[in-house]
Amino acid sequence: MFDADLLEEALSLGNNRMSQVRSKISSEWPRRSTRPDGDGKARHPLWDRDSDTWFCLHCDGKITGVQIAKNLWHCPECGAVPVDILDTAFWCEDEGKSLPPIGDKAKSDISKPEFHVVDDRPKLELNERNIVLLMRSALLDDSTNVSERLGALLAEITVDEDNDVWIRSKSDLWPDDKAPTQAINVAAQLGIEIEWETMWSKIPFH
Ligand SMILES: [Zn+2]
Repeated sequence: MFDADLLEEALSLGNNRMSQVRSKISSEWPRRSTRPDGDGKARHPLWDRDSDTWFCLHCDGKITGVQIAKNLWHCPECGAVPVDILDTAFWCEDEGKSLPPIGDKAKSDISKPEFHVVDDRPKLELNERNIVLLMRSALLDDSTNVSERLGALLAEITVDEDNDVWIRSKSDLWPDDKAPTQAINVAAQLGIEIEWETMWSKIPFH
């Protein structure tokens, strides 16, 4: 979106779509909902109420009839939907008379896009489940035959409270003298200690 041509294209597509949606919506509403009268009175599109002052359920402020009509009955401050726009602020003692006006914010200003830079790089959450999964897949990577793959699948992998790992592999499936190189590498990348031991156990079949 920092590419000016791409941005212009995207904005024009978005703006075209927006005016289509706006005109479709206004065609289904009373005319007074999108065109306030000379005194600035606008009609709520969902129920028959006319007023020149409106209130958003979520914001403490007054909205003029012109403002709310222009913004298709969405709050100019927080974007709340038409059902949350009311003609009295019943939650105020004076029904909202003393509330300050809500400014014409840039939310409905279509010429100035808002940018949010989103960091979408994958992040690794180190918890027991993820560590076990990564260790087992590293062991599978170290396996060169069926017996070792079974050994990788059946190895007991324990993670302690410091996220350090203790792996017990079955000596009948995994050679005693074979180091789990990939598992050691992965542990080093994750900054965790790895403890390796082989133990005797009953293998699934002979
Ligand atoms: Zn609001």
